Amino acid sequence: MTAQAARFSTPHADAPADAPPDARAGSPMLTLDGVGKTFGAGNGTGTVALTDVDLTVSPGELVTVVGPSGCGKSTLLRLAAGLDRPTAGTLTTRTDAISYVFQDPTLLEWRTALGNVELAGHLTGVPRAQRRREALAALELVGLAGSEDRYPRELSGGMRMRVSLARALVREPELALFDEPFGALDEITRLTMQTELLRLFTTASFAAVFITHSVSEAAYLSTRVLVMSGRPGRIVADVPVPWGRHRPPELRYEPEFAALTGEISAALGAHA
Ligand code: ADP
Ligand code: MG
Repeated sequence: MTAQAARFSTPHADAPADAPPDARAGSPMLTLDGVGKTFGAGNGTGTVALTDVDLTVSPGELVTVVGPSGCGKSTLLRLAAGLDRPTAGTLTTRTDAISYVFQDPTLLEWRTALGNVELAGHLTGVPRAQRRREALAALELVGLAGSEDRYPRELSGGMRMRVSLARALVREPELALFDEPFGALDEITRLTMQTELLRLFTTASFAAVFITHSVSEAAYLSTRVLVMSGRPGRIVADVPVPWGRHRPPELRYEPEFAALTGEISAALGAHA
């Protein structure tokens, strides 16, 4: 490893020294074993969306999934969230504390930023004072302190996505699922949100599966990159990312970064 790469290299599963010991830390958050999904299987002419997917996501991992359009990435995430069921194989999650972030922030236009973040607590019966306190803390975490009372139409695209992230993190998920959340943002906002997500990932403790079209986003954010083939989707490469969680934006201009994105792109190209 070169001196440049070494600058960014701390072990990536590094828990803070004062982190409480978790007796179950080693057991995976999410396990897929031979998972397949065929839509409309009943009439024999179904669409095979996923085939033979093996995957484990452990605490402390931020696993990104890249693959061509229509290869089953959203299907994989919906299965992980329990929104749909596999037609083959087994899928287990260790926790019910799962959050889901969509490409569209899907905010309620008639509720303020605070009202949107409070909604989940409201629906699950969290007492008013507590859910307000938690929502304010989540908004502060995503850099929106001071914008609590603004309505979605008064927020930029990046700010709307921050509200969406606050809403996903407010209930302290153990597993967070992201379906191309930054795909609709302009390039500069997108890079800022990547830095923000890394910061959130370091501050809060959740394992994550993050879907993206962007090879550089995958390399910059994750501890491991999975490459999927064209439909029917299966995992064709599992590329470890060697850097620690502290990743300055300039990492993107290092030769090691280019080498890694090259490796991911080659795997994508070979199986498109
Ligand atoms: P990606 O997110 O990678 O673009 P999807 O997971 O959305 O891909 O879709 C994978 C394939 O499954 C596509 O061919 C899509 O048309 C099909 N598909 C997805 N959801 C359904 C559904 N509910 N019913 C039938 N086909 C579906
Ligand atoms: Mg999709």
